[in-house]
Amino acid sequence: MQCPMCAGPAEVVFRRLGQPGSVHLPLGKTVDLEIAGCRNCDFFWNAEAFADPEAFMAWMAPAYASYNLLDNDLHGFPLVDERTLTVKGFLDAHCDWPGMRQVLEVGSNRGDFLAYLQQCHGHLQLLGVESTPLSLVGVPTLFNDVHEIRFSPSFDLVVTRQVLEHMPDPGRFLTHLASFLREGALLLVEVPVLENELDEGVDPWVVEHAGHYSERALELLGRSAGLTLVAADRTYQLSVLFRKQAHAGVLRTSVNSVRWKRVQSFLHRVQESQAQWRQWVEQGGELCFYGASNVFLALSAVLREKWGEEYWQGCRLALVDDYPRKHDEEVGGLRVQSLESHAPLGKTLYVVCAMYRYHRQKMLPRVLGRMGPDDRLFAMWTPLAY
Ligand SMILES: [Zn+2]
Repeated sequence: MQCPMCAGPAEVVFRRLGQPGSVHLPLGKTVDLEIAGCRNCDFFWNAEAFADPEAFMAWMAPAYASYNLLDNDLHGFPLVDERTLTVKGFLDAHCDWPGMRQVLEVGSNRGDFLAYLQQCHGHLQLLGVESTPLSLVGVPTLFNDVHEIRFSPSFDLVVTRQVLEHMPDPGRFLTHLASFLREGALLLVEVPVLENELDEGVDPWVVEHAGHYSERALELLGRSAGLTLVAADRTYQLSVLFRKQAHAGVLRTSVNSVRWKRVQSFLHRVQESQAQWRQWVEQGGELCFYGASNVFLALSAVLREKWGEEYWQGCRLALVDDYPRKHDEEVGGLRVQSLESHAPLGKTLYVVCAMYRYHRQKMLPRVLGRMGPDDRLFAMWTPLAY
């Protein structure tokens, strides 16, 4: 296997069978996930997605068409959070705003970021491209797959945040975006940082994240699209700024040699947690999964594969969720209850199944309030002290 970023030798890091097609949305299908990695450039990727990008995009299409990107009830417009301010600060350090006119954001969502730019720099002409049709948008937006859109090379700045990691053919995507830029113009790419997710106890290996980028991988990918990396920022997410110009020859990024160790220690923790949960079950304890979502399905598929279906069926299991509409439904073979109606028969090991910090922050106090001295608490695979 060859690394799609640096063409170096690559290896399979692990496989997981029967994963939900999307961790965020019900797709009614499961896939086997194979994660590959490269020691030359620290790129990790979903091998199946990269092997057949068209098939991957075809079965992800219904998920992305119904992606609920921002909850309008939850966030005022424009949402200006720590992430927004970090990216804006990074751009301020490198952009000559008065000299810029046309700015495009690909994956613009409701237009929050562009609306904030407009507030700061009233002279900018802004346009968003968004693949999910949304009812509420605050800036001029084209709703289409960006690959279907052509522009003359006229933009001074193109921004794409939290999009590249979903692309199974990132070279095609970046080359396409580069075609929108005038010579010398800038492209900002923001992606999640694998290490940050691992630190938060989040399992980063979701099917829809086709690529897990390092700075080096991004620099190499940019070169293949005629872009030169001029700056990188890891304050919050990984943001890199490319300029549309021929590269100078020498690579400017270095390889983060601890990334492989971090990934392996995370996988080791997953193994340890599985062993601990197995012991818990064998001592007559109950496993109570909190959050009847695809996160639960992803996690339980790993356990079912590891323990065998028959053993899993014989475990003392419970599944609880805060949404009343889910109560009494069956998810992954378990009947969903409310946390309040769940009556543990013995000691209980709670597993909070949530990807996002703001969900976990709501869920953790609720479960902590119910725990006895013999109970245990995990956030996905990560044991929590309390
Ligand atoms: Zn590589």
